Formats: sequence, structure tokens, C-alpha cells
Amino acid sequence: MNTRREFLGTTARALAGIAFVGCDLLAAAPARAQARRREVMVGGRRVKTVDVHAHCAVPEAMALMGMKLSTPGSTLPPLLHMATQASERIRAMDEQGIDVEALSINPYWYKADRDVASQLIKLQNEKLAEACAANPDRFVAFATVALQHPDLAAQQLEDGVKKYGLRGASIGGSVNGEEISDPKFHPFWAKAEQLGVLVFIHPQGTGVAVDLQNRLKGNGLLDNVIGNPLETTVALSHLIFEGTLDRFPGLKICAAHGGGYLPSYAARSDHGCLTQPPRCAGGTYGPIKKTPTEYLGQMYYDTMVFTPEGLRHLAAEVGASQLVIGTDFPYPWTKTAVDHVLGTPGLSDEQKIAILGGTAAALLGIRG
Ligand SMILES: [Zn+2]
Repeated sequence: MNTRREFLGTTARALAGIAFVGCDLLAAAPARAQARRREVMVGGRRVKTVDVHAHCAVPEAMALMGMKLSTPGSTLPPLLHMATQASERIRAMDEQGIDVEALSINPYWYKADRDVASQLIKLQNEKLAEACAANPDRFVAFATVALQHPDLAAQQLEDGVKKYGLRGASIGGSVNGEEISDPKFHPFWAKAEQLGVLVFIHPQGTGVAVDLQNRLKGNGLLDNVIGNPLETTVALSHLIFEGTLDRFPGLKICAAHGGGYLPSYAARSDHGCLTQPPRCAGGTYGPIKKTPTEYLGQMYYDTMVFTPEGLRHLAAEVGASQLVIGTDFPYPWTKTAVDHVLGTPGLSDEQKIAILGGTAAALLGIRG
């Protein structure tokens, strides 16, 4: 059984690292945007843009963990509250040229016991579905799943997709300190592969930064700017090296923050095995089938690398066909995700159209 103390401890760390955003949009009627909507054109063609990295939260579900979206004296940014309104969110999307957001919720329920997790996820996924139904041309959502109970998570994913019309699952980069490549999570991966849906991996604020908390203290938000990408780097590396991607070759995985550091220094993964072959003998299922960097091309990555040179390099390492827009909305990391793609050198119009929305629309079942 989980304890309230554990919940609150987790909550405090989660809020410090990631924080949550309310979706009063979840109860909202169809919202009408006030501002002028930016319509993105490439080569004379209107492009339906899709943002795969957009946060929200369901307060009613959080309450089951003894959590509140905000409390008096909260240090959470006011934007969290502003962004809870569907009309506010859509206005920001319109200004930024984002046509569709794929909503996700960072897991805060990984310590919940089976009963609480069942109730929480059911409620949360229902509310996500309601949010999408209220503005069906602007929102789709990833199902939330209780990955700490892998068989339950598999069922929740299936229910999310088949009952609620959700478009995949969002998960953390680790689960209570366990790697998502651990065989215990195979029932979830098997279901995701069977359903053919996208799994969005977002680092946990309580992930790798917890182990490194003394190193990541101090000025500069290092627990986030280093800790978050590092958690994604570790998670993806285990999926490669432990053979998860071999065992489930049909998996569609999208990593937040451009895949963390992995694509920036991918060649070291290959050269580690060349330098010390005994350390690369294989994971649970023996040797992996390809060189480590070859697996980069079978995953997807959001574009949150901020500079044209960063995005050019990411495209060079993983392939432009593997990139999709991410904004981290409503966290104010960027308001120029569209221009970032348009301004990246070396991308053809077809590649820009794919990154801006074509690839994500296909992955998420969004019709033109
Ligand atoms: Zn995020």
C-alpha cells in the first residue's frame, strides 16, 4: 500500500521538477478563439500542425492522490492557471500556429496501489476524452496508464484507445526507479505494439535527477535542464541495449526533448561496444540485432532542441522522417516551434510538412 506521506513526497518532487497544469478545458464547452489564427503554409500548401508535447492535468484525478493543482502560497507560475481554460489554450495555439495538440499528463500516480490506480486512470482518461470531444478539431490525447501495474496498464491502454478514442499512451522515462526496459513491463509494450499506437515518453521529475540530486543542485535549473534529458537518454538507451526494441520491433515510441542527449552523442553508444565488446554481450535476450545507433531511426522525437543547428543535427542523426513538433505547452519553453522548423537549414518542403504535422497526424490518427 502506498501512504499519504509517500504521495506527498512524490508530489513535492514532481511539482518542483515538472509541475502540473490544470485542464479546466476538460469541462469546457467548445471554445472560440479570439485572436487571429496563424495558418501555416509551406510551399503554398496549408499544413495542419500537430504538437505532440502539450501538458494538462485532471484535478479530480489528482484529488485521489491527495494532490491539488494549486494551493495558497504556491510557487507555481501563474501561467499554469491561465492555461487551464480551453479558450486561453486555443488562443495560444492560434498565435503559435498550432492546429492540434496531443495532450498528455506527466505520471504522478506511479506509487498508487492497484485500486487507487484503477479509479484514477479511469477517471483521468474519461476526462481527457471529454476534453477532446469538446474541441475535436483541436485536441487529441494520450491515455494515461498505471505502468507500476503492467498488466493493468496494458488493459488501460486498450480501454483508452478502444473505449475513449485516445491515441496512444504517455509514460514516464522510469517507474519508481525501475527501467521501462525491464521485462516486467513487457505486457504494456506488447499491447502498445499490438494496438499500433504511439507511446510518448516524458522524463519524470523524480527520475534520474533524484539519484543525482546533489550534483544537480544550485543555480541553473540543472535538475530539469540536465536531469530531464538525461532521464530520457538513459531510458532510450536501455530500450536499445536490453533488447526491448528487438523484442517489439513494431513499437512506435516518441521521446520528449529531442530524445535527450542520446542523438547528440549517439556514436559513443556504438563505440562503447567496439571498445569493450564484453560489456555489450546483450541484455535479457542476448545480443541486440543492430548497431545501437541504428535503433535511433525506429523511434520518433519532438523538436524541442531550440536552435536550427540543433534541429539540423537531430534530423541528421535520426532522420527528418522521425521528427514531430513539441512545445511543452503551457510551460513557456518556446512559442516558436513552427518557425523553428521553417528556419532549419537543409530541410525540404516535404520534410518540413512532415515534421510540422504530417508524421504526427499519421501516428495519431488525425485526419486532414
Ligand atoms: Zn514536458
